[in-house]
Amino acid sequence: MYDAIVIGAGPAGLQAALTLGRMHRSTLLLDSGQYRNGTVLHMHNVVANDGTPPAEFRATARTQLAEYADIGIRDVGAQTVTPTDAGFTVLLADGETAETRHVILATGVADDLPPVPGLQELWGVKAFSCPFCDGHEHAGRSIAILGPAPRAEHLIGLLGRIVSDIIVFPVEQAFSPEEAQTLEGLGARVSAEIVTAVAPDADGVRISTESGEQSVAGVFVASGSLRHRAPFADQLGLHLLSSGSIEIDDFGRTSLPGVFAAGDLAHRASLPGPMASVLLAAAAGQLAAVGVIQSLMAP
Ligand SMILES: Cc1cc2nc3c(=O)[nH]c(=O)nc-3n(C[C@H](O)[C@H](O)[C@H](O)COP(=O)(O)OP(=O)(O)OC[C@H]3O[C@@H](n4cnc5c(N)ncnc54)[C@H](O)[C@@H]3O)c2cc1C
Repeated sequence: MYDAIVIGAGPAGLQAALTLGRMHRSTLLLDSGQYRNGTVLHMHNVVANDGTPPAEFRATARTQLAEYADIGIRDVGAQTVTPTDAGFTVLLADGETAETRHVILATGVADDLPPVPGLQELWGVKAFSCPFCDGHEHAGRSIAILGPAPRAEHLIGLLGRIVSDIIVFPVEQAFSPEEAQTLEGLGARVSAEIVTAVAPDADGVRISTESGEQSVAGVFVASGSLRHRAPFADQLGLHLLSSGSIEIDDFGRTSLPGVFAAGDLAHRASLPGPMASVLLAAAAGQLAAVGVIQSLMAP
């Protein structure tokens, strides 16, 4: 019987395991190898790791975790989490089961991109969504934003002072005259035609529309949606917020005692949505681990 099984080994799960291991709490860390920033070559806005490849960040963390006798790591997915009298049974993809007193869900989210041919291949390399993570790398260059209008307005507000030129392309449906006017009023150029494809070119990205092509240094995606990577919130009937994320309290507790959550799949009700970043995921992982330790120490 483990004190905790941490499902997910991105920044949230890695940090949760580190905190538990340092406090000599028996911990199993599970990883199915599907990271949100899995295609990203260099992460940014991570102090002391600005520009570090995420794969290197994870490898360093794994090497450091291996020093702690109480942490076991397995590269296997979890399939189900079932409450028991003593805690939880976790069924692994290889058919084995593991028993635990607590579970920390750190399985993250996946990005469902708009249906633009070529976009998936550029994701994390030349196509992004987070100005804090990837805006500065486009300083003084031209970028494209792929609609829709409200989110595009937000991206223009954040990126306008960094890049030299922004052209906004509608996806699937053209902008209304009012939307185009608003976007132009913010200083962007607006394409009347929807984007039909994107592809890498020598210096950035080639954007195609019905009548032609143009090149930009990079693309920011204003549409798309987030999906839970794993089914455990549904399986366990956890309370979700209107954002679709798992509701947690300050110490990562979910609505089900013994189940904690950390990282991109969860946030407190006081926030509008998940504050998706490497450092905030790691911080949430540490808080959840502290929550588990509090629970283990409770009389
Ligand atoms: C294109 C892109 C670029 C980004 N760039 C930056 C950046 O520069 N700086 C920054 O701070 N943030 C960046 N982010 C955001 C950052 O990647 C996330 O905020 C962060 O990875 C969230 O960490 P997490 O631990 O919650 O989830 P993840 O990193 O997604 O990790 C999820 C973990 O859960 C595991 N998992 C999932 N399901 C199962 C299962 N059933 N069983 C076992 N394991 C499972 C996965 O294998 C993985 O180990 C970027 C995001 C994207 C999409």
